[in-house]
Amino acid sequence: RPRVGVLALQGDVREHVAVLEALGAEVALVRTPAQLAQVAGLVLPGGESSVIDKLSRLFEVREPIIERIAGGMPVYGTCAGMILLADRILDGLPTQLSFGGLDVDVRRNAFGSQVDSFEAELAVPALGDEPVRATFIRAPAVERVGAAATALASVDGRVVAVEQGPLLATAFHPEVGGELRFHRRFLDRVRAAGA
Ligand code: GLN
Repeated sequence: RPRVGVLALQGDVREHVAVLEALGAEVALVRTPAQLAQVAGLVLPGGESSVIDKLSRLFEVREPIIERIAGGMPVYGTCAGMILLADRILDGLPTQLSFGGLDVDVRRNAFGSQVDSFEAELAVPALGDEPVRATFIRAPAVERVGAAATALASVDGRVVAVEQGPLLATAFHPEVGGELRFHRRFLDRVRAAGA
């Protein structure tokens, strides 16, 4: 049974815990370096990326997360979590940092303020034929997919799901709509990493 964490500084932590538990994982909330050391994979929830960034520094868990990512820990980021995984943030707050790891540029709030929330059916060939019902909430989008990363899905020509080895990120929130396949894929990566 893989033991995974959800970064629990801010955001939709509970929804991720519920999906991961439904898939049979042992789930721990991660706020400190000691808690991070106990998990074999980490989910970065949706929320407000600049707040999660700030709290990660305050709780001194930012550098340990960066080290674990460099060490190959599987991570799945949704929405704000995708922003935190991006090597470069566009339209971030002046002092906002990401953990990085994903060779992508991600623009915050890429779908504008007029349409800040919407749902869409997405084709995600990597997950099979069944489309993904995706909930976007002030969602980011990937504006540059670097050579090391692979686009998994797009909406209106904008990339909204990417993967790079053990790192997975979606601009939308599968955890609010009962979509389990992204979390399952993350847990597969955790098992493959030897947890
Ligand atoms: N707009 C938020 C941010 O910039 C992300 C929104 C979300 O996670 N649903 O962090």
